[in-house]
Amino acid sequence: MKTEKTFVIIKPDGIQRSLIGEIIGRFERIGLKLVAMRMCLPTPEMARKHYTIDPEWVRKAGQKSIDNYKSKGLVPPSDNPLEIGNKVLGRLEKYLSSGPVVTMVWQGAHAIQIVRKLVGGTEPLSSDTGTIRGDFVLDSYRMSDQDERSIRNLIHASGSVDEAHQEIDLWFKKDEVIKYKHIQEAILYDVNLDGILE
Ligand code: ADP
Repeated sequence: MKTEKTFVIIKPDGIQRSLIGEIIGRFERIGLKLVAMRMCLPTPEMARKHYTIDPEWVRKAGQKSIDNYKSKGLVPPSDNPLEIGNKVLGRLEKYLSSGPVVTMVWQGAHAIQIVRKLVGGTEPLSSDTGTIRGDFVLDSYRMSDQDERSIRNLIHASGSVDEAHQEIDLWFKKDEVIKYKHIQEAILYDVNLDGILE
């Protein structure tokens, strides 16, 4: 469990909002270990590849959007999840390739779940306060649909173990993910704390 890894992108709006340090700081202070990092300019093709690793993603993203509208008592722009999902994918290609991003791999116990918890829900309007999306941005499904663009929510983080493996393989070469010891792992994970007292 201690070696679980998750893949994170600070999206173009995260860079433009000068939140790189803030976001990295939140992952560091919870005890996760940074094992790979790069700044790059994704192509639209890379953005599409990233979001279509899961062949079900288009349908799921469309359905999530429809459910969100309905939960607020609003009428969704369409009742067809594939139609909405495909639009979202096109908008994401533009969004992710609009400027530099920072890609990272973070390692630690429950890394995938812990990072998702710190990141917060997809729609900043309803992401919990205290999360990255809840604290630093104010976008919504309605605003982004009105302007025919992606929801700007600062960050991407893997949603499952399979997704994390595939995303890490897509964005990093094997030897770019570094194996090293971090001094704080002793206090986080060691069974005995015999080495503290002198
Ligand atoms: P998450 O990033 O929370 O895992 P998804 O995988 O469902 O969420 O969606 C990927 C990204 O696509 C979101 O972070 C957001 O930027 C964008 N997005 C998702 N659904 C919509 C939508 N209905 N309208 C605009 N942008 C969307």
